[in-house]
Amino acid sequence: MPKTEPQDDATPASSSLECDTRFHIDPELVTVALTGSGTGLWDRDVVTGEIRYSPAWKAMLGYAPHELSNRIEDAYVRVHPDDLAHVRATMQAHFESKTDSYVVEHRIRCKDGSYKWICSRGKVISRGSDGRAQRMIGTSTDITALRETATNLQHTIDLITNLTNEVPGLVFQYRRSVDGHGSVPYASDGIRDIYELAPEDVARNADAIEARIDPRDLDVFRQSLLDSAAHLTPWHLEYRVNLPRQGSCWRQGDARPQRMPDGSTLWHGFISDATEHKRIEAELHELATVDHLTQLSNRRHFTAQSEAEFTRIRHAPNEIAAMLMLDLDHFKLLNDRWGHALGDLALSHFARLLRAEARTGDLIGRIGGEEFAAVLPGASIEDAVTFARRIQQRVEASPLMSGETRIALTVSIGIDRMRPTDAGATQALSRCDKALYVAKERGRNRIETYEESPAGEANGRSSCK
Ligand code: GH3
Ligand code: MG
Ligand code: MG
Repeated sequence: MPKTEPQDDATPASSSLECDTRFHIDPELVTVALTGSGTGLWDRDVVTGEIRYSPAWKAMLGYAPHELSNRIEDAYVRVHPDDLAHVRATMQAHFESKTDSYVVEHRIRCKDGSYKWICSRGKVISRGSDGRAQRMIGTSTDITALRETATNLQHTIDLITNLTNEVPGLVFQYRRSVDGHGSVPYASDGIRDIYELAPEDVARNADAIEARIDPRDLDVFRQSLLDSAAHLTPWHLEYRVNLPRQGSCWRQGDARPQRMPDGSTLWHGFISDATEHKRIEAELHELATVDHLTQLSNRRHFTAQSEAEFTRIRHAPNEIAAMLMLDLDHFKLLNDRWGHALGDLALSHFARLLRAEARTGDLIGRIGGEEFAAVLPGASIEDAVTFARRIQQRVEASPLMSGETRIALTVSIGIDRMRPTDAGATQALSRCDKALYVAKERGRNRIETYEESPAGEANGRSSCK
């Protein structure tokens, strides 16, 4: 502490309590009030280095009213060594009139050797003509409990932050105000992976997140949040994002909305990376629906798709759809002669020709060993016959080549239409099978349409071969 010279024009300490002429209060009552609030008083003569403490101040540190020296040097010894420089600097700044008052929080040693946190506030109340501080008074308040609460709170915040940052995903709070403005008051570190953004990028304005969402899913994303806010129902969505580093990825979001007093909605939730899960899902879907050899729909998937088409036809009387069943001729002979591997090539070759002839929306599948089927939505039986002819022409025009050897394939085709009176799509398929049987009977490489015989027996009428 710098030594300060005595000055003549010091004003008495009591004058500070009378600064407001409209408000007079007995100084003793002030002391009682401060003591009651856990605050002690001190009065320092800067010139002589003497400091006097109120009994409450001494009691705060565990001393009796008659204990403690009045020397400022002893006062500084009680200050925690780690806080001493800060305390001195703050005091000096105030002595030099750089601050309006002296306010500092520091630890101080009690009589029993333990430390308490106190908040000291003071003010120089008299200065010499050269501006040097002469007398200063102040208060000290025990803030140990407050500091402990603040420390515990900080520990809790640190714990939550550390835990949420360890979670492989984004833990967040999303707020949407009544006017639709979105912000993310809390985002864990996972936002750097989930959206390739920093928490501060979205703390006030969440637009940067919308800019990351795949345009194909943006409307659904917005609507899902609106619905969740309107009915206060949990938000759940799988959606795509386009990220600068990771590219196109899937995200899965889950959150619970809460209506706030100002009418805004606050979600607490979690977003995880669903890319791998979606990839496996797509792989499993493909395994379950696609025939490995030909890449056409397998029997189960073709049946499910044609049942869906049948349901559409049945509910819309003006809608029509034709069905075809196609079976390669003498395929067993082909296998026997050229080998099973070449037979496989022939199957995928035929599948390619079939796919090339199909329009978008047509359903084609491999429903057995060398048996295929197609549903042509919107097609009449005549359209289907035309389609079948084109298939046969393609098969003839594009033989399978094994080296220099040309391996001719032919196909027999049975045709009928889906009928609204059927119980399901398999009924149409079984009529196609009957027409196909007739095509085989009549010499193969033929197209037959189903016709009911007068006796009710399955029949087919020759169409074009
Ligand atoms: P049809 O003209 O009457 O249809 O005679 P087909 O020989 O074609 O008919 P069949 O039902 O007698 O024989 C079908 C053959 O298809 C028998 C089977 O070995 C063969 N096959 C079934 N699945 C596959 C396959 O995945 N690969 C190969 N290479 N052959 C298959
Ligand atoms: Mg066959
Ligand atoms: Mg067959």
